[in-house]
Amino acid sequence: MPANASSDFSRRVFLGSTAAACLVAGFGAARAAGTIKPDAKSALIVVDVQNCFIDGGTLPVKGGAAVVPVINKLAASFQNVVVTQDWHTPDSASFVSNHAGKKPFETTSMPYGTQVLWPDHCVQGSEDAALHKDLKLPNAGLIIRKGLRKDVDGYSAFIDADGKTMTGLAGYLKERGVDTVFVTGLATDFCVAWTAMDARKLGFTTYVIEDATRAIDLNGSLAAAWKQMTEAGVKRIQSSDIA
Ligand SMILES: [Zn+2]
Repeated sequence: MPANASSDFSRRVFLGSTAAACLVAGFGAARAAGTIKPDAKSALIVVDVQNCFIDGGTLPVKGGAAVVPVINKLAASFQNVVVTQDWHTPDSASFVSNHAGKKPFETTSMPYGTQVLWPDHCVQGSEDAALHKDLKLPNAGLIIRKGLRKDVDGYSAFIDADGKTMTGLAGYLKERGVDTVFVTGLATDFCVAWTAMDARKLGFTTYVIEDATRAIDLNGSLAAAWKQMTEAGVKRIQSSDIA
């Protein structure tokens, strides 16, 4: 993939209406239920199942709470489980409140590309940023926090939005011998998609478990994200495909 794949992706997701209009291709061949058996080289990545992204939170994803029981059940099939939290400073440059005259979901230009201006959300240490109370992942080995820096947003569990600063997750997984990741959580078309795209870029076999995700779907962003993920070789499966 080209070095600027992440920024291409962001532009197409955020601004591209043509991509959104395209049919989603490559759903993959129909698979018999329960045929994928995670092994010691597999990791479940649980992206941002936090109060902020669930009804009652500051940036709720429609139906977000529905992923919780699906993910709880999936986790029992994995020896490696990683959890992420979106974790911003109150003065984050990605917060609309820090841009006079802008409305939520408008964009601005950052040194690393186009940035959506989000409602303030997931502020470090707040109850809003806590993991959802019903998420039960007793075997999770790592919680990784992203979007920590004021001037750089972070959607992906692997690489900040500048496209180059690593979170350390790739090193952690590789040191543990993981070569395959299964991505779940919120939201399908942003943090899940960016995580899956970067996982491919970093050489992991990558699955997104669709019914363990929910989307924001901003201006066609969900269809665009699936198109990009499919083109990058991300495999789209359902939780029933996991043995
Ligand atoms: Zn965020």
